[in-house]
Amino acid sequence: MSATDTARIIDGLELAKAVRDELVERIRGIHQEGSKVRLDAVIVDGNAAGSVYAASQARSCEQLGIEYELHELPADVEQSVVHETISRLNADPGVHAIMVHLPLPPGIDAEAVQSGIIPSKDVEGVNPANIGNVIYGRRSLVPCTALATIQMIEATGCILQGKRVVCVGASRIVGRPVAVLLMQAEATVISTNIHTVDLASLTRDADVVVTAAGVPGLLTGDMVKQGAIVIDVGINRVLDPETGKTQTRGDVDFDSVSQVAGWLSPVPGGVGPMTVAMLLRNTVDSAQQSQLS
Ligand code: NAD
Repeated sequence: MSATDTARIIDGLELAKAVRDELVERIRGIHQEGSKVRLDAVIVDGNAAGSVYAASQARSCEQLGIEYELHELPADVEQSVVHETISRLNADPGVHAIMVHLPLPPGIDAEAVQSGIIPSKDVEGVNPANIGNVIYGRRSLVPCTALATIQMIEATGCILQGKRVVCVGASRIVGRPVAVLLMQAEATVISTNIHTVDLASLTRDADVVVTAAGVPGLLTGDMVKQGAIVIDVGINRVLDPETGKTQTRGDVDFDSVSQVAGWLSPVPGGVGPMTVAMLLRNTVDSAQQSQLS
């Protein structure tokens, strides 16, 4: 953690490195017992962005000692072939973890594909059974971005029980799973969306604000309580009118919020790297669980 004028920065790169260091040790232990850890990813019509992400995922796995296999399918693949690929990986005892790169081409039902991943290997937590298990308080593979968000809040030393938390955004992928995990931690949770009236009156009362709306600069300093924890999940590509170049910006107006908040996660270098670390941790959890069963 480092200090700015006011808000302390929740450094996602530093936290992600600590998670990776811990995983190296756990993976070494798994190898010593004669077992392996393996993640399989499926990509359809690997566009440039998807391939870059897959390549960086392969490097991360290699550094940690996780076996990684990418299954590349052509753009015109039939939905049934994608399902068959997933089914084959579900049935393979050597595969501990499965993920599907999005987006899938039009005509392929992403939700149906994700729901086809067996819950015990669903390391992105995209099979509805996994978030359902969280609601029932059972052991589960939890969506990585939501997990990263909770870890970043807790890294400040905050005990969530009894805290007032506002989630800005309620998507299936991010906002709702975050709200569910916060409820599980017994925080008092307000879930907001685009139809919420007077968002600022809610965020101003919050001990913790999580922004996952996809609206650059939505949360400004006048909307935040002095000393609050602010976690910025947004990743938005915006054009800088001065340089003409695109930049990555969060949903938080960093300059004004950093003058008021007690803790703030930056974009880039915040929730993004921690999300990747959580995927790797889920992969190791999944491999260890398969050893036990
Ligand atoms: P989405 O478009 O599916 O959902 C946006 C949500 O925000 C909706 O519930 C919508 O109602 C709400 N919303 C929009 N404007 C609002 C407003 N003015 N006030 C209150 N709520 C508002 O987006 P998503 O997939 O949930 O992604 C949200 C952001 O998080 C994006 O910037 C995305 O790039 C980013 N993201 C980051 C990670 C990560 O690892 N850091 C992962 C996934 C998504």
